[in-house]
Amino acid sequence: MFQVSEIVYFCYGHRLLDYVGKCARVHGHNGKVEIVVGGETLDARGFVMDFSDLQVAAQRFIDDTFDHRLLLRRDDPLVPVLTAQGETFVALDVNPSAENLAKLIFDHLRGLGFPVVAVRFFETETSVAVYSQPLPAGPVATP
Ligand SMILES: [Zn+2]
Repeated sequence: MFQVSEIVYFCYGHRLLDYVGKCARVHGHNGKVEIVVGGETLDARGFVMDFSDLQVAAQRFIDDTFDHRLLLRRDDPLVPVLTAQGETFVALDVNPSAENLAKLIFDHLRGLGFPVVAVRFFETETSVAVYSQPLPAGPVATP
């Protein structure tokens, strides 16, 4: 399989529930996400796909959804407090762990038709969560 990837940088805050450790406190990360797309064949240009198409879609989703935002699980006790204060945050159905954020990005881009095979979510330069799935059978829709 051929693979190409794009990297997106962003900043986010979060805290994890049901967890004992530093990420149980409200804090921030300089995140880095590598989105890997794959294909068994190349197009007439010799590409899996145009890097810029993937970069634009990934950057747009991450900027609009996660960048410079506080990510919380929906049942976090901070949710009603921040709501009452008119503060901006993102309430997720899952804990905002690197693993879950990788899957959210993967699912969104697959849903747009990108042949994503893996999302590597760097919470730090040395701590990386990966969500991956093989390509679905049959042709992948062109985004
Ligand atoms: Zn953290």
